[in-house]
Amino acid sequence: MAAVSGDLDPSCAICGAPPFPECPHEGERLEMALDQAQARWTSMQEIRDWVLNHARNQVIATFHQLRQLRYQAHVAYLQTLPYITLYYRYNGQPPIQPAQLHLLHSQIQQANAIFKQGVDEDWRRSCLRYPDVLDHYFNLVGFALPDERVSAVSNPVFGASAKERPRVKAKKESVDAGSTKEHKKKERRRSRGRTPPPPQAPMPGAFR
Ligand SMILES: [Zn+2]
Repeated sequence: MAAVSGDLDPSCAICGAPPFPECPHEGERLEMALDQAQARWTSMQEIRDWVLNHARNQVIATFHQLRQLRYQAHVAYLQTLPYITLYYRYNGQPPIQPAQLHLLHSQIQQANAIFKQGVDEDWRRSCLRYPDVLDHYFNLVGFALPDERVSAVSNPVFGASAKERPRVKAKKESVDAGSTKEHKKKERRRSRGRTPPPPQAPMPGAFR
């Protein structure tokens, strides 16, 4: 019987299959656990809410300014129409020739339609700014990744996992230094999270 080496690779934690060839289960479950942990982490939702509220307020405020300017221009234009003062004074029934009244009506109608069109265009342009505005507010959110020396979770077997980290580092170095194919395979197996896309539907036995 062959001797078993100290760095024996474990079987798949999910299905128990041998370490090679790799099966996708561990990577898939890890992705799910990561997604679930992210969903439990309320700061993500807080950031999204903050960015959304500020972006929305900004876009709406800009739209209100544009609409206000457009309304002022609209009112100023109406003031230039003949008989408009009489029209207002007599609540839309001024004592003028029917033909003149008809013309005034159509001029007001046309101006109102142009105003409405302009407001719609202002709103459309304001909404088109959302991607940039959202980027702007996301970029205002500061974050800092913690120092590696203080970030480790305590290890249930060894206490603080100080003993774990140098091993990981040493492994990376051995890969960088161009070790055997076998070693590279092991390294991949330990850091599989990035390879498979997350499963679309929850699987039985998901981490809870
Ligand atoms: Zn498996």
